[in-house]
Amino acid sequence: MENRKLTCIECPKGCNLSVDIENCRVMKVEGHKCPKGEPYAVSEIENPQRVLTAVVLSKGLSLKMIPVRTDKPIPKAKIIDAALAIKKLQITKPVKAGDVIAGNFMGLDVNLIATRDMT
Ligand code: SF4
Repeated sequence: MENRKLTCIECPKGCNLSVDIENCRVMKVEGHKCPKGEPYAVSEIENPQRVLTAVVLSKGLSLKMIPVRTDKPIPKAKIIDAALAIKKLQITKPVKAGDVIAGNFMGLDVNLIATRDMT
């Protein structure tokens, strides 16, 4: 049985979690001060996800790059492939913050959205 220490980031209290893991499965979580801590630990160990932020090259617009992010977290294991896919994109039309740059990005059921206006 492996034990891992995590800090819950679901709220500013930042509880220190002690997580017992066996065969990549969470067996026990201690240290959480509310019910959100346990699912956080399970997700973080068994299926870690992150919101990806990046920039996309633009052409003919006011800035050379447009900041983007996924509108939902994606599996951590897909982050590098997603970053490489974003590198291949190019934006040629003005966008507003929140506009979808790539729908169902990489088939992950998330959208890649602009995070600022670009004229
Ligand atoms: S376990 Fe609950 S109280 Fe502790 S950091 Fe997570 S959300 Fe906050």
